[in-house]
Amino acid sequence: MKPFAYARPGDVTEAVRSAAAEAASVYLAGGTNLVDHLKLGVARPELVIDVRTLTSREITDLADGGLRIGAAVTNSELAADRRVRERYPVLAQALLAGATGQLRNMATAGGNPLQRTRCTYFQDVTTACNKREPGSGCSAVGGATRQHAILGTPAALPDPTAPETCIATHPSDMAVALAVLEATVHVQGPGGARAVPFTELHRPPGDDPSRDTVLQHGELITAIDLPAPPAGARSAYRKVRDRASYAFALVSVAALVTVADGRATDVRIALGGVAHKPWRATRAEEILRGAEPTEHAVRAAMEAELAAAQPQPGVDGGNGFKIPLATRTVVAAVRDLVREA
Ligand code: SF4
Repeated sequence: MKPFAYARPGDVTEAVRSAAAEAASVYLAGGTNLVDHLKLGVARPELVIDVRTLTSREITDLADGGLRIGAAVTNSELAADRRVRERYPVLAQALLAGATGQLRNMATAGGNPLQRTRCTYFQDVTTACNKREPGSGCSAVGGATRQHAILGTPAALPDPTAPETCIATHPSDMAVALAVLEATVHVQGPGGARAVPFTELHRPPGDDPSRDTVLQHGELITAIDLPAPPAGARSAYRKVRDRASYAFALVSVAALVTVADGRATDVRIALGGVAHKPWRATRAEEILRGAEPTEHAVRAAMEAELAAAQPQPGVDGGNGFKIPLATRTVVAAVRDLVREA
């Protein structure tokens, strides 16, 4: 492991100041992803700033009926909170679908959405990877693509040597739930405090795959707000993976549905495991809003959503299976929520 300096500042202001002063610095919270990257040589910071105890570890009620989640709240604490289980089941289920009990005891609300892709090549420093080493190329294109993206990728077969090529997926389950709940992220940075809509936190690879989010260097997540759930809404999370636990999603679905008089008055669908960011299925949502949410209607809406999907060939058989899998998983999730409603 490359040696680095370690700092434990007294408060958020001091942490942000330390980060701003050292370009090669990173924040450490639960460390469940960063420590692996330090050992593997994927992350090579000069300075690690421990923020674990600097932000709130409380979940507090908001005046509008929502909840504020302090960034230091652990995934286990969040999943077990009675208000979360009752009012935001999609979030509790997503958290429990992720990692293992031991990891959830360490991972934090602020850190979970910032975990990095589990693309095999990203974690293997002997391979070319634009996300880890900008401009080096993308080893996934033409390699193993089973875990990779089908949405938000270039229309043609991506060029493995182009510096902007990246077909990685975002691995967080929690982030898919927060996208459907339309959470807000509070950050503190060198330029002051700001709030970022959760659906805008993560970014597509664009021309710089090394950046996963819109956060600037030194910005620290301090809290995440959940708005009050819509009256009568039902929500759930479904995850499909290669083994029953401790595996990342091939496809996951966070769904929230409100039904009145047999019609869907509010439908929100987010997909995990299919894109560089949690993917809100806005096309499908538009089609279903106001419609009778039959299995046939949901399937047709998802087919419209996935018409733009670009499955990637691969030495492992590729990832074209994600298109029917995503459709079937959404159909099943919405069907169960409509039955409950
Ligand atoms: Fe790197 Fe992205 Fe290509 Fe994976 S898909 S090797 S993370 S550039």
